[in-house]
Amino acid sequence: MKKSSSIKTRITIWYTTLMFVLIVVVLALVGGLSYQLSKDSIEKNVILGVTQVAEKLSKRQPDVFEIVESQEEYKNVSIYDPEGKYIAGKYLYDAENIPFEEGVPRKETIDGKEYIIYDARMPGPPGMRGGLWIRGMESVNSSMILGRSAIIIVLVLIPLILILTAFGGYYITKKAFRPVNSIIKTANDISAQKDITRRIEIAPDAKEDELNQLSVTLNRMLDKIENLIKQEKQFTSDASHELRTPISVILAQGEYLLEIAQDDKERELAQSIVDKANQVSKLVSRLLLLARIDQNRQKFNKEKVDISVLADIAVDSMKELAAQKNITLSANVPDDTFAEADESLLLSAITNLISNGIKYGKESGYVSVSAVNTGEYTEITVKDNGIGIDKAHIDKIWDRFYRIDDVRNDEYGSNGLGLSMVKSIVELHGGTISAKSKVGEGTVFTIRLNN
Ligand code: ADP
Repeated sequence: MKKSSSIKTRITIWYTTLMFVLIVVVLALVGGLSYQLSKDSIEKNVILGVTQVAEKLSKRQPDVFEIVESQEEYKNVSIYDPEGKYIAGKYLYDAENIPFEEGVPRKETIDGKEYIIYDARMPGPPGMRGGLWIRGMESVNSSMILGRSAIIIVLVLIPLILILTAFGGYYITKKAFRPVNSIIKTANDISAQKDITRRIEIAPDAKEDELNQLSVTLNRMLDKIENLIKQEKQFTSDASHELRTPISVILAQGEYLLEIAQDDKERELAQSIVDKANQVSKLVSRLLLLARIDQNRQKFNKEKVDISVLADIAVDSMKELAAQKNITLSANVPDDTFAEADESLLLSAITNLISNGIKYGKESGYVSVSAVNTGEYTEITVKDNGIGIDKAHIDKIWDRFYRIDDVRNDEYGSNGLGLSMVKSIVELHGGTISAKSKVGEGTVFTIRLNN
């Protein structure tokens, strides 16, 4: 399965991780550098203390031991006898055990603590034989101070910075991507509701960025498409109007020819004219009805309609057609099943569904009409046990001029407008229509009208 993760989330994760890595690298660099600096300054301090005490001793100053003991600036200096025994100054347990090494500053670890040590050997004060060791020693504890602040930074500041980065960044990207959401929403609305008049919302304070330009361009494109569709519908409507009169004339004259036909050949020709003229006349009246509904010009008389009566009328009008295929027609609607509808439009929708049931029904099959009123809505069902509709076509049968099998349907004079007309009628009522089908078993059409 494809993982769903929005661009917003991916961008946020990316720069928050980057920020984290950056902070860690900077902290490591700063930590390392300040450790080195503090180590250097401690080393300098230690050497200075030792050198000063050594100088005093070389000048044979008598009170050196007291000075080392008492003065703050020599707090890191201690003095040992030639065997390494402590005499004066700062006493550090275990420091005696570290071997003396003259003139080399170095790092030693005692009890897990790091120390900088510097030793110098000098002649002792007057009266002392064998010379003395002067040891400067200081712990690298300044780096510990940095260590503590680093822990605070790592535990408190970094999460805080990361949270701020993530939330701030997410908010900004979300705002920047708002036009994309609006584009997606509009595209979905247009495809779901088939409403081409919808436009992408552009906030008045929107920034003039690429996404904003995209929204403006798409809106312009939608204007163009809407205009084209309008023009196409207008053309269909105008053309149908223009065709209406000549077709009526052809039909009337064809019927006249049929009446006065002298022989079978003439009768056959006249009949063919009448049949084709009837087909075109049906097509034109469907197109005109669709155009009227599209342009909100269709007269619509909503009234309380008795569906049981309507179903009987529809079934009666189709009896002849059904008989040609020995198809049983039945209406099973309980009395007093009412719906709020335009009687003639709803009758034409039901008749159309029955006619399809017969057209695509099997020899000696059945087509039945039933209905229920649940109180909330009225459901009218037209069911057949005909050839059925393949899954690949079921969503497209509502499209204008869509026919599954051109050759097969031609023998019935089909034009692919029946179901789109039925759908338009149902939607004009504010209702819905759906189809369920199994190839070889049959089809069920269900009209639902809200009460
Ligand atoms: P048509 O005028 O071709 O019947 P429709 O819009 O009424 O046009 O139907 C569209 C297509 O859906 C038809 O060509 C047909 O293939 C299929 N169809 C419609 N009703 C049925 C049905 N009851 N059983 C099987 N196929 C059907």
